[in-house]
Amino acid sequence: MYIVQVASECAPVIKAGGLGDVVFGLSRELENQGHIVDIILPKYDCMRYDHISGLQEDYKDLWVPWGGGSVHCTVLRGKVHGLNCLFIEPHGEAGNFFNRGKYYGDNDDNFRFAFFSRAVLEYMCMSNKRPEIIHCHDWQTGLLPVMLFEQYKYREMDGQRVCYTIHNFKHQGGGSVEILHATQLNNEGYYLSPDRLKSPSIANHINFMKAGIVYSNAVNTVSPHHAWEARFGSEGYNLGDTLSVHQDKFQGILNGLDYEVWNPELDEHISMPFGPEDFELKAYNKKGLRERLWLEDKDRPIIAYIGRLDDQKGVGLVLHALEYALRRSAQFVLLGSATSDHLKNLFWQTKNRLNDHPDVHLELGFNEELSHLIYAGADMMVVPSNYEPCGLTQMISLKYGTVPIVRGVGGLVNTVFDYDHDEDHLPEERNGFVFHHTDASALESAMHRALELWYTDREAFNKLAIQGMRCDYSWRNPVKQYIEVYENIKA
Ligand code: ADP
Repeated sequence: MYIVQVASECAPVIKAGGLGDVVFGLSRELENQGHIVDIILPKYDCMRYDHISGLQEDYKDLWVPWGGGSVHCTVLRGKVHGLNCLFIEPHGEAGNFFNRGKYYGDNDDNFRFAFFSRAVLEYMCMSNKRPEIIHCHDWQTGLLPVMLFEQYKYREMDGQRVCYTIHNFKHQGGGSVEILHATQLNNEGYYLSPDRLKSPSIANHINFMKAGIVYSNAVNTVSPHHAWEARFGSEGYNLGDTLSVHQDKFQGILNGLDYEVWNPELDEHISMPFGPEDFELKAYNKKGLRERLWLEDKDRPIIAYIGRLDDQKGVGLVLHALEYALRRSAQFVLLGSATSDHLKNLFWQTKNRLNDHPDVHLELGFNEELSHLIYAGADMMVVPSNYEPCGLTQMISLKYGTVPIVRGVGGLVNTVFDYDHDEDHLPEERNGFVFHHTDASALESAMHRALELWYTDREAFNKLAIQGMRCDYSWRNPVKQYIEVYENIKA
């Protein structure tokens, strides 16, 4: 099959979070299984050009219909670690759409990505690209299926089908009817109806994610448990009813991990490769991590947190985990970048307060290389999320023999099985510690159980870590499920 992935991120060239990892890993495994994949992305000024080889012009004068006229674009092509990537570069007035020094976070994000979606279709149409499947990701591409089936279908693109994957329901995109005019969809009365794009919560607004759900041929989120939460709980952020209307085409497919990138046996960032057979070598990475972060070298566990510092991630509990770790004579390492000024200040204050502490290191910012060292060197990873559609950090931790301590929500439920209490899994299948409530004592009780095991029965703790390393969260199975979806919807 010929599949085009359309997204706002693709690791490592454009990565703000898990979406980037997923677009890259999914595409690579699809190619490994014999399919042809192109990935279409915006050409941001701040992307990692050092990860692109052979960047060259693919389509020179693309005129993308926009508002009352059209925008001049160039499409570039290059390889990102072997994968075909195409980058849309607008010129003229729209030229600054992707030249902001960041990927997201401006007031016109809705227009920027509506434009991107329109440009992708115009490019495919004009360059005669006719994939069987267009796979769209998150709110940024929610309008693409609308434009495909309402506009481009009549421009010789009636054989394309759309699979739409939702990585985070909280960010849905949308805006006033001006967007309908900008994309030339117009026809407000038609699109603003409740069974089409009408926002479920804001009057006279359209909702991009709802558009993606209504118009795509298949829709999924990134774990089976989160699919349930989104439909029946508050995690769907007002889209639960829309999902129920479209339940026949909606499901959860767990994300995979790219084990060529995330694999302690092959990882070039870490000082000593190791696997489940020589788990004892992990200790060298722990020592290396301590040296790198100026932590005291002594017989204590290292507990880590890696992730965006965002309300989604349970930041209050992250700080509590730090304090509790110190109370229990453990060491704590944090790597995260804040998504708001308030959280940035909070974590900088904490960092300054603990700067000279021999058992703590807070690294505020995004650092891919350091993340590998932490996964390899830490003993435990806390993931106390308020909600977590899939979560990659716990799956990466498992692969690196770092025992996850997680809150039982979303994809964490589908991937981490409690050492003491999981009755659905045999003891030899269990791989971490799970707590359920959002209060500090729930977190403490799980951390307590993990720390007790580390302090009193190291052999059992290591056995648990090794069991985690043997879990298979590769892309092999998820890609089989995606291919089944593609086969079911293709024309
Ligand atoms: P989300 O997509 O909600 O941010 P995920 O757990 O799905 O969370 O994916 C997070 C990905 O981003 C993981 O690969 C993690 O290692 C990486 N990551 C998050 N924050 C940082 C950071 N500050 N530095 C390096 N990598 C990070």
